[in-house]
Amino acid sequence: MAKKMHAAIVTEFGKPLSLREWDIPTPGPGQILVKTEACGVCHTDLHAARGDWPLKPTPPFIPGHEGIGIVVALGTGVTAVKEGDRVGVPWLYSACGHCEYCLQAFEPVCSEAEFGGYTKNGGFAEYILADPNYVAHIPEGLTAINAAPIICAGITTYKGLKETGARPGEWVAISGCGGLGHLAIQYAKAMGLYVCAVDIDDEKLAQATRLGADFTVNAKSGDPVAAVMKETGGAHGVLITAPSLPAFKQGVGMTRKRGTCVLVGLPPGEFAMPLFDVVANCITVRGSFVGNRKDMAECLAFAADGAVTAEIELQPLSAINQVFDRLQHGDVAARVVLDFSAET
Ligand code: NAD
Ligand code: ZN
Ligand code: ZN
Repeated sequence: MAKKMHAAIVTEFGKPLSLREWDIPTPGPGQILVKTEACGVCHTDLHAARGDWPLKPTPPFIPGHEGIGIVVALGTGVTAVKEGDRVGVPWLYSACGHCEYCLQAFEPVCSEAEFGGYTKNGGFAEYILADPNYVAHIPEGLTAINAAPIICAGITTYKGLKETGARPGEWVAISGCGGLGHLAIQYAKAMGLYVCAVDIDDEKLAQATRLGADFTVNAKSGDPVAAVMKETGGAHGVLITAPSLPAFKQGVGMTRKRGTCVLVGLPPGEFAMPLFDVVANCITVRGSFVGNRKDMAECLAFAADGAVTAEIELQPLSAINQVFDRLQHGDVAARVVLDFSAET
């Protein structure tokens, strides 16, 4: 009989996760088994557990795409990693490797891409099965706990900022200063950008200032678009991480003429854009979805160098339902990381 592990499982959309035992998977040819040390809790895990998006995972499944751990077993033919390596099992779990998007290093949009904690079981469990060709390689000197938020919140904001095209000395507005946003602020400062942080929570904005934001705006009080325009003349780049639809129209409105507004937040639904302003101001609005493996190595290097440090609250796996509840209500300061050394 297969050995068992503790896991948090989505059995039905919109219901609390079930904390129970699950068979420890055996790595097949070309696969590896990772013993989880830590796993961050991303707002995407909440969307997954609620079945928020048109592409839905199939319950029962194990969420979590910021899982970091040690390679403990190799399937046949694996040469990319060895036992004892510290790796991360990210959202981009695997891709075909040869379609036009993979060839351009845009694997997240590969139509055969698999997603960790979504179409494949993820890191809310003591062991994770992974594809060694797509795992993140955690640099020496970065702990599992500190690495966890980097492999989703970090890569997504690092890549998203690059996609704005903003250059050193220019302004970026970062809308949503939670798990993603608090790292976005740090990446932007490390890139030599001026940062305007936008949130609806004064505590998040105080944290943003502490992390280097040059200017903050509370989108709940007054007109956030007017406030950003007055201070910056319009941000050259805007990165919207807020899981809230009103932030999207506002973000487009904050964009400077010829600037780029990058959408990464994923609340379910649609938003209307002021067409005349977008056209007449030559504004680019683009989506961005995590990043490729090179982006992963780069954003981890910033963290290993100490240029970017995730703010972390540790919790045990058994607290996942309370963590989800708080995340839904905006009651997590930055990132919760599940600490598997706390489990027995
Ligand atoms: P989070 O809950 O940690 O942070 C969200 C922040 O947005 C909070 O600080 C909250 O106060 C703030 N906020 C809420 N409404 C706002 C508004 N109207 N204006 C400004 N700020 C507002 O969530 P997170 O883990 O940072 O994830 C954010 C979103 O990004 C989610 O929708 C998630 O699914 C998505 N995401 C996308 C990608 C991608 O590749 N595109 C990757 C990871 C996460
Ligand atoms: Zn994520
Ligand atoms: Zn492909």
